[in-house]
Amino acid sequence: MRIKFLGTGDAFCSGGRYQTCFLVELNDYNFLIDCGATSLLALRSAGVDFNHIDAIVLSHFHGDHYGGIPFLLLQANFVSSRSSPLKIFGPPGVADRVGDLMETLYPRVRVDQLSFAVDFDEYGDTGIRLGPLQVESFPVIHVPESLPHAVRITADNKVLAFSGDTGWSDHLLDVSRSADLFICECNFYDTLAASHLSYQTIKGAMNNFKCKRLILNHLGPEMLQNLDKIELECSHDGLVLEV
Ligand SMILES: [Zn+2]
Ligand SMILES: [Zn+2]
Repeated sequence: MRIKFLGTGDAFCSGGRYQTCFLVELNDYNFLIDCGATSLLALRSAGVDFNHIDAIVLSHFHGDHYGGIPFLLLQANFVSSRSSPLKIFGPPGVADRVGDLMETLYPRVRVDQLSFAVDFDEYGDTGIRLGPLQVESFPVIHVPESLPHAVRITADNKVLAFSGDTGWSDHLLDVSRSADLFICECNFYDTLAASHLSYQTIKGAMNNFKCKRLILNHLGPEMLQNLDKIELECSHDGLVLEV
């Protein structure tokens, strides 16, 4: 499993980083985790062909996590002549949320009338099979209207866990347990907020995490100003990891 960090920033592109978007490559299956508004530019800058992406997994409905989808669909339809189907997997209502976003940004371009099929699946109480992936979702503490979730994805005998955007909960220890890689949001350095994590909170809990590797993501200005003090691994745009 190869993970390319295409976007590692916060909603405000702090530090010039793209908003959240990871490309995960398996032998015969490629998918995105989250698709912030800047993701088409992030993919193009990294030389990634969206036609080769089989699925998009969404953590929640905030623009820095799903706002890029209309641009990807538009490009695939009008520029790169995509014909292979695309699966989009996310919290309940994902088809309507993406359809509404497309209708707002590009009236008369309908998701169900593109040159390729877009199939939607919603998170449920149990995990779901998505191609070679087993995807489990877990509600987390963030703006409730965005239907925030963490995800835990198993493929090729590897486990990738992602916190999404969230405040602290001991539940994160279960989400990340025994994961080969846990991508954990870390918006703040020492500010305590209800809906995001701080470095001090994560560092204080490190002895309780049972994942094999943890990397911090979604770095806000506080984090970027204190990078020289950070003792945990941080992501950056362009980082590629093999797990
Ligand atoms: Zn975010
Ligand atoms: Zn969010």
